[in-house]
Amino acid sequence: MSALGDILHRRIAQTGPLTLADYMAEALGHPEHGYYITRDPLGAAGDFTTAPEISQMFGELVGAWIANAWMEAGSPAPFILAEAGPGRGVLMADLLRATARVPGFHAAARLHLIETSPALRKMQAERLTGHAPAWLERVGDLPDGPLFFVANEFLDALPIRQFVRQVQGWAERCVTSDGARFSFALRPAPEAGLLLAPEIADAPPGSVAEICPAAQAIAREIAERLGRHGGAALIADYGHMGPATGDSFQAMKAHAFTDPLAEPGEADLTAHVDFAPVDAVFAANPLIRRGFATQGAWLRALGIEQRLAALLARADETQAEALRSGCSRLIDENGMGTLFKMFGAAAGEMQTLPGFQ
Ligand code: SAH
Repeated sequence: MSALGDILHRRIAQTGPLTLADYMAEALGHPEHGYYITRDPLGAAGDFTTAPEISQMFGELVGAWIANAWMEAGSPAPFILAEAGPGRGVLMADLLRATARVPGFHAAARLHLIETSPALRKMQAERLTGHAPAWLERVGDLPDGPLFFVANEFLDALPIRQFVRQVQGWAERCVTSDGARFSFALRPAPEAGLLLAPEIADAPPGSVAEICPAAQAIAREIAERLGRHGGAALIADYGHMGPATGDSFQAMKAHAFTDPLAEPGEADLTAHVDFAPVDAVFAANPLIRRGFATQGAWLRALGIEQRLAALLARADETQAEALRSGCSRLIDENGMGTLFKMFGAAAGEMQTLPGFQ
């Protein structure tokens, strides 16, 4: 049994079943044995691959969007350039390279990375030398100032609570243990009816509904900063603009699905992101404009095909093949183009939000 499995079995024996959110938080973020704390999970040798890892064009176009939003905001200097969950730092490196010739942008940027993993902080430091990043534990620790924020596949790693509709009302799905194995259990959750969107609060028996309180709290932090100091945010992830029912809790190991209860700390645990509660937080401020699009539509609108053509013009055979297949994976319907979404928000009435027509 893994060290973390052992700890969680004992904890459940002492204090009872864990909510799915507690289980997920421990499995991913336990300070000693958590999945993200102990390793680099990305890339071919890891457990999963993300858009910036697939092609440089993703980070370049995110950079173009951010630089445009910064200029539309009047090129505030200094400003906070922040990324949550930067992984190996690839997206930020591509963003910074793509914006190197935007007058004043690099000089004004104060780079802040929100990252809990010591292993990944180290890789970020190596890839982003010269840009003097500051690392933070949480979004709420960001200093005050105009904020330009990006996150890719960050919200999907935040702990979710899951509710299962019974004939008598909602129950919460928990994780229990017999001392050797973990299994799911239910506990009554009369509060669920108040926490879920009205459209699904009366879903039929058997329905599963999910909420992600941490994603909403982070959205609130960002929206409040955009309201107070100006700025923009671009959040990418796989998911939908809710409300939806269905069990999206999943575990990935070595690029394949696995049992999320089998080895806590050894597999990536995620859930689909419901962007509706995130959007609602920003919508509460009438001076913040929002946009939502599939990743494929957004990248096309930002000009990925033109960017591909420009890169192909100076690529050799092998590079050309990688560029073409990377572009297809990012935008094709049977790749990431439809399942993955982009959410954008920007303060200020005059803002246009490229990519979100
Ligand atoms: N954005 C990167 C990596 C995605 S993986 C990419 O697209 O390639 C998720 C990232 O979020 C990792 O860097 C992980 O360490 C970080 N992370 C996960 N949970 C976190 C939390 N609660 N607080 C801060 N960072 C977290």
